[in-house]
Amino acid sequence: MPTKLYEGKAKILYTTDDPAVLLSCFKDDATAFNAQKRGTITGKGAINCTITAALLAYLADQGIPTHYLETVSPTEMRVRAVQIIPLEVVVRNVVAGSLARETGLPVGQVLSRPLVEFYYKNDDLGDPLLTGDRLQLMELATPEQVSTIQHYALQINQHLTAFFNRCGITLVDFKLEFGLDAQNQIRLADEISPDTCRLWDQGESDPERRVLDKDRFRHDLGQVEAAYETIRERVLKAVTSGAAV
Ligand code: ADP
Ligand code: MG
Repeated sequence: MPTKLYEGKAKILYTTDDPAVLLSCFKDDATAFNAQKRGTITGKGAINCTITAALLAYLADQGIPTHYLETVSPTEMRVRAVQIIPLEVVVRNVVAGSLARETGLPVGQVLSRPLVEFYYKNDDLGDPLLTGDRLQLMELATPEQVSTIQHYALQINQHLTAFFNRCGITLVDFKLEFGLDAQNQIRLADEISPDTCRLWDQGESDPERRVLDKDRFRHDLGQVEAAYETIRERVLKAVTSGAAV
């Protein structure tokens, strides 16, 4: 019988008959600012499940090992069970969010090359930014694993940037989680969705109207569901038109 393994902020993980496989169920719950702000985005679970499935399948086609197996309902997918490495791997192409706040660089400045950052995935500590030395000190991953993750993160960024460009969307930044599978191989896990990416509509220059991601919820910009729906439509269109391959 499936049992609830873990309930997070956005998903519930259930065990399955196969110990190597988990069921990931996407919720409508939304949180921001380390769960200080809570709400519901109606339909988000189904939208994020669809977007994550499409993007992970696309990345798998490009040779990136992922945890995705198959979608089994509008809000549920079967994934390979992995031991999550407690790092939030953030890739940035354009200045936004904490990078703007903490460096003074202007929001919207295009970076000359992508920035890969590691944050400690720990809600109690507020997911702090790690230095390379702290990463080594904490032994959250071996140096070899860190370099593999960095390599995958940059490859994923190239593939996703190209994909979203075909959707008329700028991939500003995004967060990834990786885990170790039963063979101790590193796999991309978790989700890729408007909850975990900053996505700007290339057809809009207005800094509020262009936002098609969770920043609409974070900063009470309204039209949250519509933005998520726009991303789903454009992602699915890019997949079905074959533009993604
Ligand atoms: P959180 O509140 O920690 O962000 P989520 O609700 O987003 O949690 O997701 C639930 C949990 O599932 C997260 O801790 C995430 O790291 C974990 N997870 C994602 N994919 C897998 C997987 N394939 N195997 C095991 N755990 C996973
Ligand atoms: Mg999460």
